[in-house]
Amino acid sequence: MPVINRIADFAADMAAWRQHLHTIPELEFECYKTAAFVAERLREFGVDELHEGIATTGMVAIINGRGEGPTIGLRADIDALPIPEETGVDYASTHPGKMHACGHDGHTTMLLGAARYLAETRNFSGRVALIFQPAEEEGGGADVMVREGILDRFDIAEVYALHNAPGHVDGSFYTTPGPLMAAVDTFEIHIQGRGGHGAMPHETLDPVMAACGIAQAIQTIVSRNHYALDDLVVSVTQIHAGTVNNVIPDTAYLNGTVRTFDPAVQRMVMRRMEEIVAGQAASYGVEATLDYVVGYPATINDPAKTEFAAEVAREVSGAGKVVADGGREMGAEDFSYMLEKRPGAYLFIGQGNSAGLHHPKYNFNDEIAPVGASFFARIVEKAQPVA
Ligand SMILES: [Zn+2]
Ligand SMILES: [Zn+2]
Repeated sequence: MPVINRIADFAADMAAWRQHLHTIPELEFECYKTAAFVAERLREFGVDELHEGIATTGMVAIINGRGEGPTIGLRADIDALPIPEETGVDYASTHPGKMHACGHDGHTTMLLGAARYLAETRNFSGRVALIFQPAEEEGGGADVMVREGILDRFDIAEVYALHNAPGHVDGSFYTTPGPLMAAVDTFEIHIQGRGGHGAMPHETLDPVMAACGIAQAIQTIVSRNHYALDDLVVSVTQIHAGTVNNVIPDTAYLNGTVRTFDPAVQRMVMRRMEEIVAGQAASYGVEATLDYVVGYPATINDPAKTEFAAEVAREVSGAGKVVADGGREMGAEDFSYMLEKRPGAYLFIGQGNSAGLHHPKYNFNDEIAPVGASFFARIVEKAQPVA
């Protein structure tokens, strides 16, 4: 079965929803207009229950199937990014400095498309829980929704989600069983030295040299402390110090990101970073404090659910357009919090050639929305057929 005919019939509606959502990008938990639009559509479709205000602007809609059965969870992220848009499209962002540069407008639309079809047809048993989640990019909205109890409250047994992928054939799918995306941690290092005249360095405790030393030494965690075949990234992404060419500043600041899959590796990085920061600070005679913040956990797909989802993807797009074992990557995703609690799968859906995710010229490809909506709908129909 390719794209579901009934969904193809309303592809133009989906493009209109998506383009409207594109005009009103909102950040983190503050997705008020987006949530209002989604709730209005869901009421129109006749969902059986609508629970709003979860994680501030998140919501869960329930559609009852025919007869008893478990509840299957489908999730879309709804938030945007603090990026000024440069697409030039006539439905560009009307919120200055914000844009849907990660395609969450498209994810929201694909789940709305599935909702409309499932509410109309109800060719499944049990229930479906449609999870619209804010704050994926920043804030861990999935974690908040889980902590607010959605999985238990709505008795959700398994969970699925999609993310669009620029540079992959439009309407293709890829995923991988087991670890798919990395855990993401951040670190900040504040260095307190003693500034002075740039010509009199012997009278100072130079925080700039200490910052350079720490940034270099941190790289040895990956190259010298870590088994070469395990995945690990440590990137220093900011160094700030000083204001003018002839003054050695008092302070310096560094931060960066750490990506891991294995909690033991993560603990090793935390320990080595403490040791390196303390040791380097002592050697340069400065004070340095490390603030290491543990972020989203690794996204781990359930192998059986992943194979099932890949089978559904093959039905929708054809076997030649589905890679079920595509390997893992060092990006991160807060759907990991849901996958920690329930079996399920996260898949990527190709959207053809476009600017990359988080790029100011990125735009979601409306052509793939019926494919994603069909995928979600068939997940439900196939997992929970009518008795
Ligand atoms: Zn993103
Ligand atoms: Zn995203």
